[in-house]
Amino acid sequence: MDYYGSQISRLIEQLSALPGIGSKTAQRLAFHIVNMPMEKVQALSESVLDAKKNVRYCRQCFTMTDRELCPICSNPKRNNRQIMVVENTRDLAAYEKTGRFEGVYHVLHGAISPMLGIGPNDIRLKELMTRLQGDVEEVIIATNSSLEGETTAMYISKLIKPTGILVTRIASGVPVGGDLEYIDEVTLLRALEGRVEL
Ligand code: ZN
Repeated sequence: MDYYGSQISRLIEQLSALPGIGSKTAQRLAFHIVNMPMEKVQALSESVLDAKKNVRYCRQCFTMTDRELCPICSNPKRNNRQIMVVENTRDLAAYEKTGRFEGVYHVLHGAISPMLGIGPNDIRLKELMTRLQGDVEEVIIATNSSLEGETTAMYISKLIKPTGILVTRIASGVPVGGDLEYIDEVTLLRALEGRVEL
């Protein structure tokens, strides 16, 4: 694999270690990068480093941000009494793109999966329960409709029920096993509007 010389091979190797990048794409990207003007390459590598250095989790909702409180949590127009629980930051982005949800989010960073050995303590559930001690009216569970997503939804609902806070689940307009991030905005909105009490 060293017929390109070690520097290019190293770049290809680094790129192909990224999710969704196969060796052919990695080669294509590597050659593209090498042919880019120096300033563009500089900007790309700086943005990678800056993002890595500065991005952290919002202290309230745990989405990825470069501030202590993300722009959603620090927006006074958002309804803090309505919390939508999602598996990851990409799912949050999918719902944000609809522009119709006025509440705030809670990002779990995963879902409960006995098969993969991921338990309730491995996702940001404790942090969610802490938030519920404030003034919260509704928790909308918008985990994926995969086995893990459903397991997580049931677990959270059982946990929250005794607090008397309304727990709802987005409707099944979202196809079974479907990842929220790949679903179109109309379907996402329909799922939100048709949510049912758990
Ligand atoms: Zn936040």
